[in-house]
Amino acid sequence: MKNAIVIGSGIAGASVAYELAKKGLDVTIIDRNEIGQATQASAGIISPWAAQRRNKDWYELVRLGAKAYPAFMQELAEFRVQPSAYKKVGSIHLFDKQERLEAAIERVKKRRVDAPEIGKLTSLSSTDVEEVLPFVQKNTFQGLLIEGGARVDGRALQQTLLEAASTLGARNIQGDARLLIEKDCIQGVQLKDQTLFTDAVVVATGAWMDDVFNPYDITFDVRPQKAQLIHLQLPTIDTSNLPVIMPPNNQYMLPSEDRRMIIGATHETDAGFDTRVTASGMNEVLSKALTIAPGLSTSTVLEARVGLRPFCGNSLPVFGQIKQITGLYGVNGLGASGLTMGPFIGKQLAKQITGEELDIDLAPYAFDRILLQ
Ligand SMILES: Cc1cc2nc3c(=O)[nH]c(=O)nc-3n(C[C@H](O)[C@H](O)[C@H](O)COP(=O)(O)OP(=O)(O)OC[C@H]3O[C@@H](n4cnc5c(N)ncnc54)[C@H](O)[C@@H]3O)c2cc1C
Repeated sequence: MKNAIVIGSGIAGASVAYELAKKGLDVTIIDRNEIGQATQASAGIISPWAAQRRNKDWYELVRLGAKAYPAFMQELAEFRVQPSAYKKVGSIHLFDKQERLEAAIERVKKRRVDAPEIGKLTSLSSTDVEEVLPFVQKNTFQGLLIEGGARVDGRALQQTLLEAASTLGARNIQGDARLLIEKDCIQGVQLKDQTLFTDAVVVATGAWMDDVFNPYDITFDVRPQKAQLIHLQLPTIDTSNLPVIMPPNNQYMLPSEDRRMIIGATHETDAGFDTRVTASGMNEVLSKALTIAPGLSTSTVLEARVGLRPFCGNSLPVFGQIKQITGLYGVNGLGASGLTMGPFIGKQLAKQITGEELDIDLAPYAFDRILLQ
């Protein structure tokens, strides 16, 4: 394999393009700059171990993804990644019931056997919680502090990966790509005013997966899930080293640099490809956050972001070869954990493309699972 085209430059495409360029392939990355790109809107939580999800194939990807991060970021230091792009700040999981805290401690302790990077677990009283997070509702929450929790700036990481790939010889093209397939074999990619021929194509087009397959009557079970979140700036508190905060609802609070606090996000499954910031989305995010943390009410609203999380059948990612077409590969369905697992998946996919031995069995993540026609 000498060359490859990657369609889509979100975290999935950027990761695989970087890995392929590192292996010496002649790589071309094509993106049409969708404003709902998930990676551009993402928050950046890397702390998957307390999740209640029982799907072991999903957990394996987030576990290995989180584990790989520190070494991966060290590798990227060569390409001048921003020092604050990844920070191990810990994560605090808040509970309003003692039995839920105890269940979480048990769950994470069990998972620590295979994930020592979880580090120290500390149980926090409501007084301890208030000391670390002075803006949360008083006398209400106990907490579990997971030492290994981290945050990553998705935009900065994506930018670094694309720049690194380009330093290694990859080229970036802006354009709307269509597949060029003949006799069940990939030939290349069709853009508006040019045709690019290649040995392999990786489709990493997120929620817009079906567009590239439409001319061939191939449909995959991939759906957009709209997510809206808000960036606040706190008046005085230094947030740069605060842990990631996971309240007992379906939202999060992610402290960042410059007194920034990211709150969100919505999970809108019926909004299709609508990328508007809506009144109800903002109301949901703000009211949930201020119920947990009334002390945030005097913060400045800096901006709102919207992204379309790509979800596919069983909410389990797919990646690898698309067997129906020789030379065609893909990655999709990274859902709400794509920053956590994206770089790890990118590495595995690049290994498959170049015929190397993989670190995991790809069978659970095969594209056949989501092929509708
Ligand atoms: C608000 C929000 C918060 C999140 N927070 C976290 C978090 O804290 N932790 C975590 O682990 N994950 C998080 N995620 C999830 C993560 O961001 C996504 O899973 C991940 O970014 C998906 O990456 P992707 O590359 O598959 O898709 P995308 O980032 O959406 O990229 C797809 C790209 O394909 C391009 N494209 C599509 N069709 C074509 C075509 N025909 N030709 C050319 N280009 C095309 C688009 O322009 C787009 O740039 C969050 C997501 C959102 C939306």
